[in-house]
Amino acid sequence: MTAPRLDIDLEKVRHNCRTLVDRLAPKGIDVTGVTKAFLGASEMAQAMLDGGATSLGDSRIENLQAMRGFSVEAPMRLIRSPMLSQVDAVVELVEISFNTESSVISALSLSAAQHGIVHGVVIMVELGDLREGVMPDDLSDLVALVMSLPNVRLAGLGTNLACQTGVIPDVAKMDELSRLSDSVEVEFGIDIEMITGGNSANLSWALSGVDTGRINNLRLGESILLGRDPLHRQAIDGLHTDAITLVAEVIEAKDKPAMPWGDVAEAAFSGQPERTGDGTIHQAILAVGRQDIDPDGLTSPTGIDVLGASSDHLVVRTMPDAISVGQEVSFELNYSALVRAMTSPFVERTYTEHPVLAVAP
Ligand SMILES: *Cc1c(COP(=O)(O)O)cnc(C)c1O
Repeated sequence: MTAPRLDIDLEKVRHNCRTLVDRLAPKGIDVTGVTKAFLGASEMAQAMLDGGATSLGDSRIENLQAMRGFSVEAPMRLIRSPMLSQVDAVVELVEISFNTESSVISALSLSAAQHGIVHGVVIMVELGDLREGVMPDDLSDLVALVMSLPNVRLAGLGTNLACQTGVIPDVAKMDELSRLSDSVEVEFGIDIEMITGGNSANLSWALSGVDTGRINNLRLGESILLGRDPLHRQAIDGLHTDAITLVAEVIEAKDKPAMPWGDVAEAAFSGQPERTGDGTIHQAILAVGRQDIDPDGLTSPTGIDVLGASSDHLVVRTMPDAISVGQEVSFELNYSALVRAMTSPFVERTYTEHPVLAVAP
């Protein structure tokens, strides 16, 4: 088989999605499967839908186009604010986009009118993470704009935390979104359909047993794909953390001095781990590099430690005789390593299916 590649177990992806959907359903929260980490690959999108996601969300129009092209049947949302230069493509492609700017919403309205359709606008509210969102004090004005413009409708309110500065989506933040939703409903005499509370980082809050208030949707990517809660990156009970693994091939395996020799200046990439130890170590090189993965985001199998990486070489330390040239090694990935691997043209994807595996509850 070709290497490097991502081995993707669709059954595990489905299982992860289904488990989260089933846990959130009793709280009245449905799941938008977030597809941006895999360039809209239809197999993965379909696994999320088969796992109970009721819609798909992506931040890039190209990925949404790809899924439509592969006839993925699902409501789709653009979860990043549309570029002003792309509003036509947005209204043609998706029913709903997430928005924070009046100029973009006005352009969407104009374009939707030209297309003879109505486009749904979810207004994102800034609650402290300092990425996208209108400040809470400005929410009412933006809602008023959406209500006043033709061919757009208010499809919902939302927020996104924990992505830019790591602000936790806790009870206080989520209650604030619920309160804002209530006040918009009272002020404008409307019912808000979707109140989308956040991403995988919201799971601790959503599943902690607290009152989840008005929140009725979460947008989940990382937790479905990697089975981890991004707040502390710990595995989520009952989910697979190895639904996707990176496989790379050994191209050199030699005993080498533990420490470099000669005068040392800067390496090609900063942030390499310090080399330590003395004497001789067993070192191997895998044919994969920073163009394809984030070396800090790999979890190696027992007996193998990542020593560093350059563009095309991943250098590891191994146990004696653990590894030979031509052999393949599998790594688990974090989100950073995953998105890079998914977007590298050098990394193949192989889909496998396993019978449903029971995992410890
Ligand atoms: C990426 C993204 C998500 C999904 O985040 P995960 O941590 O992968 O669950 C949700 N909402 C928005 C706006 C995003 O950009």
